[in-house]
Amino acid sequence: MGRELDLIPVSEWGFFTPPRPMVIAGPCSAESEDQVMETARGLSELGIHVFRAGIWKPRTHPGCFEGVGVPGLKWMQKVKKELGMKICTEVASEKHVYECIKFGVDMVWVGARSSANPFLMQEIADALKDTDIPVLVKNPVNPDLDLWIGALERLNRAGVKKLGVIHRGFSTSQKILYRNDPGWKIAIELRTRYPELPFFADPSHMAGDRKYLLELSQRALDLGLDGLMVESHCDPSCALSDAKQQLTPADLGRMLGEIVVRDNDSDSLEYKENIDQLRAQIDVIDENLLFLLKNRMEVSRKIGQYKKEHNIAILQTARWDSILAAMVAKGKEYDLSEEFVTAFFNAIHEASVQTQNEILAKPSEK
Ligand code: PEP
Ligand code: MN
Repeated sequence: MGRELDLIPVSEWGFFTPPRPMVIAGPCSAESEDQVMETARGLSELGIHVFRAGIWKPRTHPGCFEGVGVPGLKWMQKVKKELGMKICTEVASEKHVYECIKFGVDMVWVGARSSANPFLMQEIADALKDTDIPVLVKNPVNPDLDLWIGALERLNRAGVKKLGVIHRGFSTSQKILYRNDPGWKIAIELRTRYPELPFFADPSHMAGDRKYLLELSQRALDLGLDGLMVESHCDPSCALSDAKQQLTPADLGRMLGEIVVRDNDSDSLEYKENIDQLRAQIDVIDENLLFLLKNRMEVSRKIGQYKKEHNIAILQTARWDSILAAMVAKGKEYDLSEEFVTAFFNAIHEASVQTQNEILAKPSEK
């Protein structure tokens, strides 16, 4: 089970200034001094102060552009010196961490392929010991919340207290609209578990195509995430990696302008009264739901006892399939999605089968 994280609030990192959302932007890869400087200048003019660029690129096939390596760090140093921006890049090994420290990189992130690997995470965490550099951890490529939390714990145990996360979606073999499956459920679970953890979305790698950036960014912020990491290139059509998903700084500015940033709370009395009333209704409904679940479970226990007395197997799949089909159909009438109704009733069924199993396992009273 995960333990608490010992964190320094993002407001004390000195990286992001209001207004929300916090934005990190820059090219997928640093390619040349000119490309780095021109992109950074465009972003700086938009008021973006945190610049990203990949220096070592994890590519699927060898022989693709794998990043420029250390020379790119010198160009980033120039961004820091001439434009006063904070600079950050991806680290995937101890060696990368040491190079970043040497070149004054302000923040690093761990990519999705590395956060899925506890050996690498430990190596990176050990290399970051005794530094003060903030670290953002992308979700692992596979949808495994514990693996993501484990990566955070390794860093935190090594003394990294300026920690944050980046949600970039999960690899999938299914044909979906986006490059990666947004799998928001896992992000919501992590957010709920660690509400104080600075939470970024990376709509670029989630989308894989610039045309979906706005909708995914909006979704992330609507879910209450704190910031965005977006890929931006001065000339996306010529980008050496991820050309389809990058935006020019000007287009990024336009996109950010279109995003609706919602407040976490409001001072308006009318808003407070209305929201309190609605919340009170939800509380009552939740209590009723629990009461109904308790009643249902009691009936289920009686059925379990009855099956036991008549030596009948607990799992009656045909009966369950018909209940589920009926509930899904009814749910549609109520505008409840099939996915939701199925997940809800499967959870109830699981608990019910477990209870009946316990009854069956108990020695009979004679
Ligand atoms: C990146 O941010 O450039 C990158 C490679 O992302 P990810 O680890 O999410 O694939
Ligand atoms: Mn990229």
